[in-house]
Amino acid sequence: MDAKKAILIVDDSKTVRNLVSFVIKKAGFKVITAEDGLDGLEKLYSNPEIVLIVSDVNMPRMDGLTFIKNIREQESFRDLPIIILSTEGEEKDIQAGLEVGADIYMVKPAQPNKLLKNINMLLGKKK
Ligand SMILES: [Mg+2]
Repeated sequence: MDAKKAILIVDDSKTVRNLVSFVIKKAGFKVITAEDGLDGLEKLYSNPEIVLIVSDVNMPRMDGLTFIKNIREQESFRDLPIIILSTEGEEKDIQAGLEVGADIYMVKPAQPNKLLKNINMLLGKKK
């Protein structure tokens, strides 16, 4: 059997991590969580089964934009699908998120169906 595909959820809010985890687990994915960008990088390096990242922007230690920029600078993660899930929904925020390399920008609270639709679309497209 194939190892289960894992999705990395990076958010400093435990409530958001739990909520998004619930939705993604229900869809059949394994979930790995991280509390900020630094933690996210560590988890990414130590879990090769990660196929997609859902990341917050506003976080302590390392914010989501710095986190994504870091990832995109590495050859092996250039095509890893990344969804931003943030409370910031202004045009400039969305622009900044897409510029550092996120594939999709979603504003909290996101509809579970829409999040799953985006995840499946990104995984289907980039498989
Ligand atoms: Mg936050």
